[in-house]
Amino acid sequence: MPLIRSWVASANDPETAFPLNNLPYGVFSVGDDAPRCGVAIGDMILDMAAVEEAGLVDLGEPALFVMPFWNEVMELGPEAWADLRARLTALLAEGAAGEAELQPMLVPMAEADLHLPFVVAEYTDFYAGRHHATNVGTMFRGAENALPPNWLHIPIGYNGRASSVVVSGTDIRRPWGQLKGPNDDLPRFAPSARFDLELEMGAIVGRASDGPITVTEADDAIFGYVLLNDWSARDIQAWEYQPLGPFQAKATATTISPWIVTKAALEPFRVKAPAREFALLDHLKDAGPMLYDIALEVTLAPEGQAPSTIARTNYREMYYSAAQQLAHHSTAGCPMSVGDLLGSGTISGPEKDQRGSLLELSWGGKEPLTLETGETRSFLADGDTLALSGHAQGDGYRIGFGPCSGTLLPALDDPYAR
Ligand code: CA
Repeated sequence: MPLIRSWVASANDPETAFPLNNLPYGVFSVGDDAPRCGVAIGDMILDMAAVEEAGLVDLGEPALFVMPFWNEVMELGPEAWADLRARLTALLAEGAAGEAELQPMLVPMAEADLHLPFVVAEYTDFYAGRHHATNVGTMFRGAENALPPNWLHIPIGYNGRASSVVVSGTDIRRPWGQLKGPNDDLPRFAPSARFDLELEMGAIVGRASDGPITVTEADDAIFGYVLLNDWSARDIQAWEYQPLGPFQAKATATTISPWIVTKAALEPFRVKAPAREFALLDHLKDAGPMLYDIALEVTLAPEGQAPSTIARTNYREMYYSAAQQLAHHSTAGCPMSVGDLLGSGTISGPEKDQRGSLLELSWGGKEPLTLETGETRSFLADGDTLALSGHAQGDGYRIGFGPCSGTLLPALDDPYAR
């Protein structure tokens, strides 16, 4: 599919993240205005509350877009999602009759504050990138035991905390935690010295279920995707993770990008999962191509300095799709809700510069990374700004995700000071 031209000139730039082919959904405010729903188009945001009030979009329910979240639109289901997308495409296409009426409803993105685009119902994070799992397993347990025996049969996950999810641009405070290094006799309470990122994609559940669903049903239930950084304290993780998995190591924050890129926008970029070493059981079998060709990049900027690219990889490197993760999540009867967020797991490619965490890039701190500024990093330093970016490359256009960034603030002197 080629670029769909828009009367919003900046949306026709081949480099823009937000051509008319994309139409991602966010929540924005300007000044002291109340946050409300918007759609990104080029370097502008279409104020959906204004569009709704003018009667230009009608999904059969009142006041959907004055809300500071997209959950109510998701609740309407896939038919309404398709109707909305078709309507917006018609309104914003080059030559559309309503241009003069819509023009005042566009807000420059540069003037807007972006908020979390949906209410995160619950958050689950998976561990479904094979290169990442192999790298981390090798470091933690040795090459012989790198992949746990279940790994090639189920997408492993843990239940995270929706309350810890924040939007891009939110500062992250270095956490304190209980640490015990391999040479320490006893644990101690101290700021994490091995604070890290995890490059992931987040899938947003748009359709509730109550009981097991198939991979195809799961794919149909996904509303869209965001970039996701699962900030991770490796020293807290190493001490706490057995036997129940990560807990405080992942509790500080998880940053997501502010725009929900819909599954519809990503349709042209579907790709198959990699070859299976063991056939998956029937309820998890691939039901067509359910990964996407999305180029991903991580940059690290030390305080006051230019960013260096530290990793480049692709979402197609995943072993399990979000649809398989969602299907697996439902197998034992877990009800899934509109607004559930599923982290893909860290996305690493086979090459050294394709690794989606500093833990892997610096090989547990043994091989510090040299930035373009000449500084080295094994883990994040105070003041570092970490940014994820991603896009699918179409024919003359890009489906971009917008920024997913955060700056690491120093730990408090004493987190229990009152
Ligand atoms: Ca993770």
